[in-house]
Amino acid sequence: MGLACAVSLARQGHQLLVLEAEAQVGTGISSRNSEVIHAGIYYPPGSLKAKLCVAGRERLYQFCRERGVPHRRLGKIIFAAEASEQDQLDTIQARAEAAGVHDLRRLSAAEVSQLEPELRCAAALLSPSTGIVDAHALMLALEGELGALGEGQVVCNARVERIEKVSDGWAIHIKGEDGPALVARNLVNSAGLAATQVAELVEELGREHVPEPVYARGCYFSYGRPVPFTHLIYPVPVPGGLGTHLTLDLTGRARFGPNVQWLEERDHGRLDYSVCPSLQPEFLAAARRIWGAIEADALQPDYAGIRPKVRTAAGLAEDFIVSGPATHGLPGLVNLFGIESPGLTASLALGDMVATMLDGD
Ligand SMILES: Cc1cc2nc3c(=O)[nH]c(=O)nc-3n(C[C@H](O)[C@H](O)[C@H](O)COP(=O)(O)OP(=O)(O)OC[C@H]3O[C@@H](n4cnc5c(N)ncnc54)[C@H](O)[C@@H]3O)c2cc1C
Repeated sequence: MGLACAVSLARQGHQLLVLEAEAQVGTGISSRNSEVIHAGIYYPPGSLKAKLCVAGRERLYQFCRERGVPHRRLGKIIFAAEASEQDQLDTIQARAEAAGVHDLRRLSAAEVSQLEPELRCAAALLSPSTGIVDAHALMLALEGELGALGEGQVVCNARVERIEKVSDGWAIHIKGEDGPALVARNLVNSAGLAATQVAELVEELGREHVPEPVYARGCYFSYGRPVPFTHLIYPVPVPGGLGTHLTLDLTGRARFGPNVQWLEERDHGRLDYSVCPSLQPEFLAAARRIWGAIEADALQPDYAGIRPKVRTAAGLAEDFIVSGPATHGLPGLVNLFGIESPGLTASLALGDMVATMLDGD
């Protein structure tokens, strides 16, 4: 998100630095996800998730085509396993239409078997504009774009640990440096899992503008043998997530996940990314709903990602929170909270939105 914002700001002529705490970019949430380019199907019409996903998706496809970022528009099937789930397909289709996704196609069980002979279901929806992307290649391309624009660069090993309001902007203190490393007119806090803690570094920011972090781990199990599927395959969604689904990477390797595990931990530095092997029966059961012939021994624990959810006074936030000067009253500051899925898909559109908020500042 930081790279996407930086590219949008650099295109407007801002000179900038992307400060990254780690030794390289992309070791956070952006490297631990499903790498799916979402169509924008599930989000409430009018929400930022809906708007930015639909707008961001086409921008992302175009960016990937132009910059040679590996990606593929595979299409996705959302299936109702039982006839009793068919109503949910209607709800998803209606919501998608309202959110601007007009290309969903209803499929009968027979039509599904033609596309995916191994998937048994009562009915399904086909989303032709869903795809996959190599997230690392995307981040490298954004970094390259920033360099090519000549207005900014990424500085690694630069952990922001103090932020002071000064007359002409924000004095940023980096770990290990005496005194502020730089003074910037504008500051975009896109620290992912640490975004709420970074916002708390800004003394002048009213605490009502800093939500509470709530972390939800999503574990993946990968399948070590070839699978007979060519689309991404999703059940109907479950509370907190999209339901354990089958995604394919660009080499055709399949993984199942992510599940939803709410974590007690509130310190982003102590989050546990382990995938417990004892989850195997749960994943196998979910995977069998997609593929009856799956072989248990080839389904192995893989990696986990952690969703940067947040809670405000109104409860658990359902939408991205993009909190700028109009909300909190501090010029030149934008905080990004709760940038969970579809953040990767929405990134270029969200970058443009942030740049517009800071235009003229
Ligand atoms: C399980 C899972 C699956 C997902 N699947 C998808 C998907 O298929 N499609 C999709 O569109 N989206 C998906 N998402 C969402 C997407 O991955 C995120 O929205 C996106 O990666 C968030 O990017 P970010 O830049 O906000 O966070 P990050 O990638 O975590 O970047 C934040 C950066 O800030 C740095 N940082 C933290 N603190 C400091 C500090 N004090 N100083 C300097 N730097 C700091 C971190 O080191 C990190 O590099 C998924 C998310 C999860 C958790």
